[in-house]
Amino acid sequence: MTKPRPRSTRISARLLTPLVAIAAVALPAAAPAHAEDPVAGAQTSGDSLFPHVGNGGYDVQHYDLDIAWTPGATLALSTIAATTSIEASTTGAPLSSFSLDFERGGLAVSSVTVNGVPAAFAHDEVPADIKHKLVVTPATPVSGAFTTVVTYSGIPTRHTDADGSYEGWNVTADGATFVNQPIGSMTGFPNNNTPADKATYTIDVDIPTTITNAAGTGAAAAASNGELVGKDVAGDRTTWRWVQQEPMASELAIISIGKYDVLESDVTLASGRTLHEWSFVDSASSAANKNSVGVQRARFKSVIDGLESRFGPYPGNSIGVVVDLVPSAISYALETQDRSFFPTSINAGTFVHELAHQWYGNNVAPTVWNDLYINEGMATWMPTHFANQLAEPATSGASTEYTYFTSWSASAPESANWLTPPAGITDAAGLYGYQTYTRSAQFWEALRLSIGDADFFALIREWQVRHAGQSRGTAALLALAEEVSGAELDAFFQDWVRDADKPAWPQRYDLVLGQDTADGALEPGDTVTYTVTAANRGYVPLTSSVAEVDLSDVLDDATLGALPDGLTLAGDTLTWALPTTPRHGSRTASFDVVVDGDVSAASLRASLSSQTLGGFCAPGASCTTRADVAEQAVAPAPLPTITGTPKVGAELTADTTGWAPGTTFAFGWTVGGEDVVDATGPTLLLGPDDAGKVVRVTVAGSKAGYGDVTRTSAATAAVAAGDLTTTPTPTVTGTARVGVPLTAVAGTWDDGVTLAYRWTRDGAPITGATAATYTAVAADAGRRLGVVVTGTKPGFAPTEVASADTAPVALGQQVRRPTPTVAGRAAVGRTLRAVPGARDAGVTLTYRWFVGGKAVAGARGAGRTFAVTRAARGKRVVVVVTATRPGYVTVTGRSPRTAKVV
Ligand SMILES: [Zn+2]
Repeated sequence: MTKPRPRSTRISARLLTPLVAIAAVALPAAAPAHAEDPVAGAQTSGDSLFPHVGNGGYDVQHYDLDIAWTPGATLALSTIAATTSIEASTTGAPLSSFSLDFERGGLAVSSVTVNGVPAAFAHDEVPADIKHKLVVTPATPVSGAFTTVVTYSGIPTRHTDADGSYEGWNVTADGATFVNQPIGSMTGFPNNNTPADKATYTIDVDIPTTITNAAGTGAAAAASNGELVGKDVAGDRTTWRWVQQEPMASELAIISIGKYDVLESDVTLASGRTLHEWSFVDSASSAANKNSVGVQRARFKSVIDGLESRFGPYPGNSIGVVVDLVPSAISYALETQDRSFFPTSINAGTFVHELAHQWYGNNVAPTVWNDLYINEGMATWMPTHFANQLAEPATSGASTEYTYFTSWSASAPESANWLTPPAGITDAAGLYGYQTYTRSAQFWEALRLSIGDADFFALIREWQVRHAGQSRGTAALLALAEEVSGAELDAFFQDWVRDADKPAWPQRYDLVLGQDTADGALEPGDTVTYTVTAANRGYVPLTSSVAEVDLSDVLDDATLGALPDGLTLAGDTLTWALPTTPRHGSRTASFDVVVDGDVSAASLRASLSSQTLGGFCAPGASCTTRADVAEQAVAPAPLPTITGTPKVGAELTADTTGWAPGTTFAFGWTVGGEDVVDATGPTLLLGPDDAGKVVRVTVAGSKAGYGDVTRTSAATAAVAAGDLTTTPTPTVTGTARVGVPLTAVAGTWDDGVTLAYRWTRDGAPITGATAATYTAVAADAGRRLGVVVTGTKPGFAPTEVASADTAPVALGQQVRRPTPTVAGRAAVGRTLRAVPGARDAGVTLTYRWFVGGKAVAGARGAGRTFAVTRAARGKRVVVVVTATRPGYVTVTGRSPRTAKVV
């Protein structure tokens, strides 16, 4: 509904008078009965503003209205003969009785049937309490679906609201207009008169084909909701058949009878959808007013296109307006579903207002009348938004924010405007007051400023999408607003729609997070300076705004420096309590972090966000930063060292002590500058070929997130020859005797060892005695012999091992003893000659001649020959041969005696 401004002023004035609250009426105590026990339906829907309007125990799915209207002697005496058929279902226990709202005025009910069976009915009416109940007692209790048909006729009446305005069935100069917010529908048809119970409708209005009034006779028409599906002419009457396919609250039903210019068109929207228009303009309207209607009708496409961009698809199936000349107490336009009602004329803002209601109020209806502000606030806010943002060209240079801030500012805190909270109205007379329109439009703007455009527009669309065709109130709106925005909005809603005082205008500010890093790639130890800035973009000072910087992806790689006043750290979250900031002012704070020493190939990401309503990242600015730390080489990475003795047969080990923890290594070895192909581990076993060469090891260190580092050690000393491992002590076999061979037994040496021998005499080398065997010579007699075995192998140090010495070398034994004989004739004057016989080679023979058993002295007896002298006559001659050889035992042999010398 839209009420003209003057009227709102009057209502505001009335609000200054003491109010008498209508006490909420408790629901009738539910019969504590068995689930199947029928109960009497409640005579309330639980609406605190209209405790006796609306009913419980059932839900209506469809109304079928058949209303025949006939002018009376004067139009004021016009009558209707009507049948209302109601398809409903019980919502709980079976109903032994149930009530309908029916403010009958001059109407009389002639019959009620339930499921085709006549039912008892009674009127339970307390007009002062706005209680107009038609109580129906079916022949048998109803459970589940049931159909109630009420037949009635007479002169219908209007309903006068607590604020003095008219609604319901009103007589006009050319017929009647039936407009029904909030509760007037019960003057035209019995119904469950709560916006929480929506239903579809068929509405047949049977009227004279022409109407005659003071202005003369003209074609009559009957406007209603939904689509006109037929005009049935019978005699001088025409039945206008309307179908409302979408759920509709009874307060949004319209029937308007009179002499109209009936205007039709097809409006094709930007979406491609075409909506048919049925509009009805009082034929008696002035040319200027008709022109105003034409101007607005021409805007259907642009306005609906604009609203669809905010609210989603148009929820109805047709469009139109009903413009009628009505009593002055109907000084409001009303968003009757599909086809809004306007008194007299239409202005641009109201046109947008009522079309916005097709979503806000109609598609999603209130559940109780204290939810009205949701829809009136939006329908009031939208024309301003439309003019500023959606119309092409924009028709206003002012911002919506400025418009509603000014509106808010214009009403002092002590103004009575603030005494009625939008969701806390207690007097139905104030239902259409400041709080419902102005404060609630401010509420929507304040919500937009508080949660930001993106979430706000998502919210106002989602509200329509999610709750399409249903009825929803404050709790659902709060829940959805929090869901969409992620913001905590309890306090906001409390302030704006529940508290009986002036709400706070939102603080609004833009945030920027800046970052300053050292030139070039960011490296460990570098400093990153962050700057947070908040600029007051709103109309009130910032006094309680808080922002946070999420440093969880910064402090894992960096260390925070000292914080200035106003910044506090908890965990990884830096909280900035903004100092008071005047309008147009801004505040800045800075802090540093130093990149930790072990950081490589990492990103520092910080994000700034508002923790209070109204703060957003500045348009075109960033509230997230990223600073990349370049990949760092593995560090520390000292030169590797080589441990172990560089010697053939030894193992060398690469030592990577001091490298960064977590580093893994690959190894490469060189010996004498040549790569060792198969040496890829941390150790190297030195072989014979390595002797005399230097060794280096190269290590390549790798660590996830770091660059590989390769380092080569210093060279070792030249690899020393190795030590043979098996060097047995040789032994000497054989008898230590001159002329007897001795053999050196070397034992088992390492494979590949070449052995050499060197015999010794009393420890001194015997020249030339280098074979494995040795035969003692004369010079050895009495001396001790030994052998020294020398093992040699390439790459190894030669090893000498000496045997134990033998016993002193014994003299040799001559093998053959001389067996001399004497040759020659044993006669004086003759010379005998010794024949030595067999003897060892190498011996020296000496002779001694014996004559008659007596050795011949002197040289004469010592030669090999012996000259026989006279003295020897008769005697026998013997020669003794002595064989001597150095190192051997001397042996002698005696020849046989010769014959007697003659
Ligand atoms: Zn409205």
